[in-house]
Amino acid sequence: MKIQIHLRCLLFAVILFNFSLSWGQKRTSFHQAAILIDAHNDFPSAAIGNNLAFDQDLRGRAHSDLRRMKTGGVDIQIFSIFCGPEQPKPYAWANREIDSVFAWVERNPDDMRWVRNSKELKKAVKQKKIGTMLGVEGGHMIEDRLENLEALYNRGVRYLTLTWNNSTAWASSALDETSLKDTTRNFGLNQFGQSVVRKMNELGMLVDVSHNGERTFWDAMATTTKPVIASHSSVYNLCPHRRNLKDDQIKAIAHNGGVIHVNFYAGFIDSTYEKKSTQLMERHRKEMDSLTSHQTASTEITKKMLGEKHAAALLSIRPSISILLDHLDYIVKLVGVDHVGLGSDFDGIEAPPLELQGVEDFPKITDALLERGYAKKDIRKILGGNYMRVLKANEKK
Ligand SMILES: [Zn+2]
Repeated sequence: MKIQIHLRCLLFAVILFNFSLSWGQKRTSFHQAAILIDAHNDFPSAAIGNNLAFDQDLRGRAHSDLRRMKTGGVDIQIFSIFCGPEQPKPYAWANREIDSVFAWVERNPDDMRWVRNSKELKKAVKQKKIGTMLGVEGGHMIEDRLENLEALYNRGVRYLTLTWNNSTAWASSALDETSLKDTTRNFGLNQFGQSVVRKMNELGMLVDVSHNGERTFWDAMATTTKPVIASHSSVYNLCPHRRNLKDDQIKAIAHNGGVIHVNFYAGFIDSTYEKKSTQLMERHRKEMDSLTSHQTASTEITKKMLGEKHAAALLSIRPSISILLDHLDYIVKLVGVDHVGLGSDFDGIEAPPLELQGVEDFPKITDALLERGYAKKDIRKILGGNYMRVLKANEKK
């Protein structure tokens, strides 16, 4: 009798194991078959800063590398071209970063493919190569010249974030709009700023409103005739940070037909993170001061302190993936599933959710969406379908 019960238990366990195995396989194949587009990855800057090559094995050193991107089922990666405002020649710098992305594609023709439009995007997916696209993160890189904007478009750049944390002469950033006390300064887009947006519409370059101040945001929305993106921003109502979008902004993007690509950064999704990370850094004050004296930018100091030197301690304050899902859910509930996507900010942040070590972990997001009861057709929209719609809507007819 006892043996019989044991046998039955064993049989049940085997059936359960096989069931979960095939369920797991089904989920994995669904993820691999879906088109996954990440709207924002900062690896080009990390590569130059830390002397890394995309086609090396960078486990433990970066969030991204070619092999892991393939494992993670990434179909299209939009790499962010970026330099800080301290660079004396930002346009030249942007071109240098573009050169290095070109070099990776050239060195890896079997695994990567250059993508400049919807047609090429589909080809890359069909050929199972990582479709490589470019976005420039910060209007300062056009150095106040529409010719430079056009030249960047001709080199393949398909979105421009109107500002980074720094304002330009023609657009104010979220940082400046929320921190500058100078009320004589004109915020928003000036006339030249509006002509930048119009030129982008004409070229077929997507307007990216991440990092923009609210005044700039509303001016850009009033100027653009095409759907916009927020390439890497999350929900202000869940995490009140100036980098996130308020409900009326989310509604305006939806009304314009655009997409908000949710940022994975702990500081933008978990409202308790900033305080915890500051406390953690304060415990290593001397070390932090020594970095400060080298005149490193404060975002770089945080990345170095928490992402590299104290990564183990950082584990205890990184949020779980469910908080990221809450942001996706929030936007879906507010404006529907057609206006949300993914903008990881990998290699531009020190703390993604615990479960996401890097680009190899994208399948966990698909799993989490399935667990929350999302229909497969809706998941396909979030993973890439929505971005493809906006790209197409911006292309010249
Ligand atoms: Zn950014």
